[in-house]
Amino acid sequence: MKLFTVGPVEPYPCTRGVYGREIPYFRTAEYSALVESCMLRLGRYLGLEEDGRLLYFAASGTGAMEATVDNLLSPEEDKALVINGGAFGARFCQLLRHHEIPHTAVTLGVGEALRETHLHPFVGQGYTALLVNLHETSTGQLYDIEMLSRFCRENNLLLIVDAISTFMVEAYNMQQHGIDVTIFSSQKGLCLSAGMSFVALSKRALAHRRGRCRCSYFSFGDSLTNMERWQTPYTPAVAIMHELDAMLTYIEEQGGLETWLEGIRNRCRYFRTQAEAAGLSVCRDYPLSNMLTPLLTGSTDAHQLFLQLSKQYDFYVNPCGGELAHSMLRISHVGNLTNADADALIDAIKTLTK
Ligand SMILES: *Cc1c(COP(=O)(O)O)cnc(C)c1O
Repeated sequence: MKLFTVGPVEPYPCTRGVYGREIPYFRTAEYSALVESCMLRLGRYLGLEEDGRLLYFAASGTGAMEATVDNLLSPEEDKALVINGGAFGARFCQLLRHHEIPHTAVTLGVGEALRETHLHPFVGQGYTALLVNLHETSTGQLYDIEMLSRFCRENNLLLIVDAISTFMVEAYNMQQHGIDVTIFSSQKGLCLSAGMSFVALSKRALAHRRGRCRCSYFSFGDSLTNMERWQTPYTPAVAIMHELDAMLTYIEEQGGLETWLEGIRNRCRYFRTQAEAAGLSVCRDYPLSNMLTPLLTGSTDAHQLFLQLSKQYDFYVNPCGGELAHSMLRISHVGNLTNADADALIDAIKTLTK
């Protein structure tokens, strides 16, 4: 089996090894030390300021998105702007609606790129926060962080970034880009099992904490108190923390974050070059991330192709939803994949679409 999916991604041997060992109990000084070490390394990779905080939850990425909305934003005092360019933008809208936070969505059409002019109508309109999935994983569009960050700075908005498929995939730095909140999860850029998600908070975000926090499980207050001793109020995803430690150590041994990002960039570039040379069609309607390639399937039904790849080759790619369900597939370049894997996938697609 080979996972060309965006998450969980094709795993690395270093994380699989965790499950062959004994996993110790967690209310111990040793586990606290493990958490401290992982959090400090992640904080450095994030460019999180010294007095910022990093929290984690036993939940998939959406859990961290909901925790952020619930803890930071209030129905009385906030007005949010959301970039809605696909399924994950729509999810932010759904969460804001559920928590009754006044908001406006900048909704993009299929294939539409986000431009600065999309933001112009919202200057000086009393918005307090901007929520964005920096890479909209459902389409492969990567938004311009410089542009979004400038808009937030000039209009005094809190910048809340869902970097679930950006962090550890693209160059990303909270301080450099004035990012107040970063949401990420275990199964995407970090290449771990699904089930752990994180929220990194700048000093400014910590001060903005004015939501009602109706959900006690996701209370930032309880988490912040517990993290002072590197513990969580409830049972964490202990095994994934061990995977994280193994993965961060592996990345360091391989040359660090820059080398890691370069590996993804090179695999991505190789796939696109080879795919286009083989006559396949890459969607280039908007700026693309290095995480995945949106592949247009032309006269072949994309969903049927997805099923055939899994049944006949044991290759898993991502189908698309909504309007793109029958015309586009998404191919991940994150995870334990090689150029030979890319060649094999392209050959399979060529054979099935002949
Ligand atoms: C994967 C993903 C999520 C979270 O999805 P979960 O299934 O809850 O982990 C959120 N936002 C983006 C941009 C994603 O790629």
